[in-house]
Amino acid sequence: MKASSISSKETNWAQQLRKGLVTTKQLAEHGFISKDTLDKYDEVKDNFDIRVPQAFVESLKQGNKALLKQVIPTTEELFFLPEELEDPIGDEAWTPVEGITHRHPDRVLFKPTYLCGVYCRFCFRRYKVSNSNFNLSEETVEKAIQYIADHPEIWEVIFTGGDPLTLTDKKLTSLFSHLNKISHVKVIRFHTRIPSVLPERIHENLIKILKNTNKSVWISLHINSADEYSEDCKKAIALLADSGIPLILQTVLLKDVNDSVDDLTRLFRDSIQNKVKPYYLHYPDLAKGTDHFRIPLQHALDIMKQLRRKISGVCMPTFVVDIPGGHGKIPLESFHWVQIDANTWEFESIRERGRKILVRYP
Ligand SMILES: *Cc1c(COP(=O)(O)O)cnc(C)c1O
Ligand code: SF4
Repeated sequence: MKASSISSKETNWAQQLRKGLVTTKQLAEHGFISKDTLDKYDEVKDNFDIRVPQAFVESLKQGNKALLKQVIPTTEELFFLPEELEDPIGDEAWTPVEGITHRHPDRVLFKPTYLCGVYCRFCFRRYKVSNSNFNLSEETVEKAIQYIADHPEIWEVIFTGGDPLTLTDKKLTSLFSHLNKISHVKVIRFHTRIPSVLPERIHENLIKILKNTNKSVWISLHINSADEYSEDCKKAIALLADSGIPLILQTVLLKDVNDSVDDLTRLFRDSIQNKVKPYYLHYPDLAKGTDHFRIPLQHALDIMKQLRRKISGVCMPTFVVDIPGGHGKIPLESFHWVQIDANTWEFESIRERGRKILVRYP
């Protein structure tokens, strides 16, 4: 590829990123919020930044509810429950050096940037995202890399943030060249929302960078509604899949976005059809101003039970809740069995709608 075409691709996505709607005035001009209450929305924006990706605007105009609720601010975000926290999953308690979260011995989160292609209204890091003061300087990146190099137990580096695919090709190339020199790191995982919100970012040059490594690169896509699988998004995903990068899905269970068996069936089936394996379904973290996104946990478990009976096993993610205090993700589905005594177990049949079956193992 000629250098000129690479740089024009590089600017295409950066331009597209800038075309996102970022002010309440822009949202009002597009008819997404009322002009009369702009000051209330400005108060929301002062707390939690706004970016509505250009990729969603057409669907939003057609009134797509699942997309609207994810990206358009509401005044409900100013309602904070006492149990809601700035750092709901306790990242800070496990931060040995700036930009690194090391909670599980064999893997670290590495957060070089807090820029995203969209500012999700339910984001669990909403107190940090969009704030460029938290982006790592070259010096802090070097310290983070040094930390990884100094800890041979780190098997996997998980890039998150923010959205790591908003980093420029140059920055990604540099990060990869540093990590390539650390032999105990075997896997690099990206957590990203880019394929659905900024599909232009997934271009040949990026693929080249992602393949130019001695590690195994995995990408975990954050997608919450089947409607996010636009034609452009599917093309971006195909480019990644065809280049041999395994893709997994992370979804947040969100009221009025995907809180039904039908919504989730469509999302998980579409994912598998696009070669993206559902990995985690997250119960929404206790981030401030996000109560309007939560359904009762018991209702969520009922949905999962029905899903398990309905869809192919390959479509099923693990349902998890990340509890406050930095204790990690807790899997929630153990409702298909009860241990009666040392050798006796009672199982619930999936196929026969919950019929109880007693089994003795010698
Ligand atoms: C979610 C998370 C991980 C990754 O967990 P997996 O179960 O491996 O996907 C790692 N570290 C922290 C701090 C996390 O929150
Ligand atoms: S893309 Fe991820 S980090 Fe960024 S706002 Fe959405 S949920 Fe938060």
